[in-house]
Amino acid sequence: MSGRKLPVADGPTTRRHTAALLRRHSRPLIGITVLHTIAALAGLVGPLLVGRLVDQIVAGASLAVVDQAALIFVTAIVLQSVLVRFAQRKARVYGETMFAELREDFVDAVTALPLSTVESAGTGDLVGRTTNDVDRVQFAVRFGVPRVLVAIITIVATLVAAFIIAPQVTVVMVLTAPIVVIVSRWYLARATPGYQRESAAYAALNGTITESVEGARTIDALALEQTRRDRLRADLREAFEAERYTLRLRTVLTPGLDTPFMLAPIILLLWGAFLISHGWTTVGDVTAIVLYMRMIIGPIWELVFWLDEIQVAMTSLGRLFGVRLVEPDRTTSGVEPTDEVVRTEAVRYAYREGHDVLHGIDLDLRPGERLAVVGPSGAGKSTLGRMIAGIHPPTGGAATVGGVPLVDLPLEDLRGHVALVTQEHHVFVGTLADNLRLADVTASDEALLGALDAVAARTWVDSLPDGIETEVGSGGYQLSPAQAQQVALARLVLLDPHTLILDEATSLLDPRAARELETSLGAVLTGRTVVAIAHRLHTAHDADRVAVVDGGRISEIGPHAELVSAGGDYAALWHSWQSE
Ligand code: ATP
Repeated sequence: MSGRKLPVADGPTTRRHTAALLRRHSRPLIGITVLHTIAALAGLVGPLLVGRLVDQIVAGASLAVVDQAALIFVTAIVLQSVLVRFAQRKARVYGETMFAELREDFVDAVTALPLSTVESAGTGDLVGRTTNDVDRVQFAVRFGVPRVLVAIITIVATLVAAFIIAPQVTVVMVLTAPIVVIVSRWYLARATPGYQRESAAYAALNGTITESVEGARTIDALALEQTRRDRLRADLREAFEAERYTLRLRTVLTPGLDTPFMLAPIILLLWGAFLISHGWTTVGDVTAIVLYMRMIIGPIWELVFWLDEIQVAMTSLGRLFGVRLVEPDRTTSGVEPTDEVVRTEAVRYAYREGHDVLHGIDLDLRPGERLAVVGPSGAGKSTLGRMIAGIHPPTGGAATVGGVPLVDLPLEDLRGHVALVTQEHHVFVGTLADNLRLADVTASDEALLGALDAVAARTWVDSLPDGIETEVGSGGYQLSPAQAQQVALARLVLLDPHTLILDEATSLLDPRAARELETSLGAVLTGRTVVAIAHRLHTAHDADRVAVVDGGRISEIGPHAELVSAGGDYAALWHSWQSE
């Protein structure tokens, strides 16, 4: 593992991608804004009516005025509720649509990642991005974006209404605005790192506790109790410090915002009384403005909460967009192979720069031959297999089919030429047919059954409750490792490549089952070039040629009998295997 991390998009790149996403979805935004604005305006009717009522009653109006005001009030509330219902629905659909696009783009980017990048970055980072980061973004996009929108519209509409109704009263609010802005900015600048530190501290603490519980016997046996206790204490201290820090932020934020919110009505009432005494405004206007000011407290709190969440989500978005920044490891040249001959010329490969594990391998595969690759563990057999399968571009030299470097072919074409089967077989959640159609989406049911036949899997498939339509994978019918391997091989039959690389493909089966599968595979393998990377030497014995890989080089190559009589490495390997 070279440990190269997946990239993280920087602030400007993340903002650019986010802005593009918002622009692509700007149409529904207009509808939502219009609906919420009308709803907010309907919500402003109440305080306005109360204000007017106060003035009319002071002027000695009759009870009929109150009835009329009550009727309008109720109508406005009903209208607001209906509008909010539709606006909320639209906003949730909007958030959902945007999140769906984000998720699809992310899945596209992840599935397009070069395998070498995934391997060198480790799957942990990618899993973290697909789970934690997607969750955080989901929360902010689904709920946050619509709520922020509503909060901003409500605040702006209320302030504008207040200024229109009685600017001379509202202007005094300017005094409290700076406190709200300063406190919010102070908090938002510290909240994200603060809460991130807190989650990291709890993750570490959980890790330590889980490890200690799971490894209790080892800890006991090696007398590591004190070390574990010290570690736990350090983790607890960090969690405590992190909690204390965020608590301090909240102890500044809460009074920091509550003070201007509480001061506002006092200032308004004092200022209003002064204006009323000079006849510059009415009791009703002051009442309306005080009620408006109380109405924006909720949205301001909500705005601060969501801006904080959105800041955290932006960090996660940077990690999601970062996956798109990985350069592809191959560029399609468009040149077509002239024949089906696979060849490697002076192929070198290094997982880590400067540490070659293949040192210039020349190999001509003869069409239709069966080549067994044998050698000690770590010699580079699997790496050579991956070069021949075009999984990684070689660091030096070239692996070609029909004169075209394998990595210059589009992936779909490449798999029609050369395919690799390893011992890791993943069963995807879905039907057995879905699992097989990964190789060829257009394959008919007959073709699927034919492929299963070829790998001797029909007996057990036919006994499944729904045959090839049976749900398999997690939550469905559990395939045994041997069955999963047969499914992988059946996929290969569907791909129909002229060259196959079997990297210990039958090693999970017990020797008898392996031989049976290999025998049934025989029919499928006929006419194809097969490179079998093998531990069991009987595979080598049955092959047309054997290549011995040692220290990243082919030390011997030739037919079994020839190598045995030459008395070299292979002969020694063969004799020792036979005497086992
Ligand atoms: P085995 O029979 O044990 O599977 P092998 O002959 O197939 O061994 P390779 O798996 O090709 O050997 O490994 C060749 C060398 O490359 C080894 O030293 C191994 O440690 C290293 N190597 C293999 N895969 C990676 C990887 N993903 N990252 C870094 N080094 C690797």
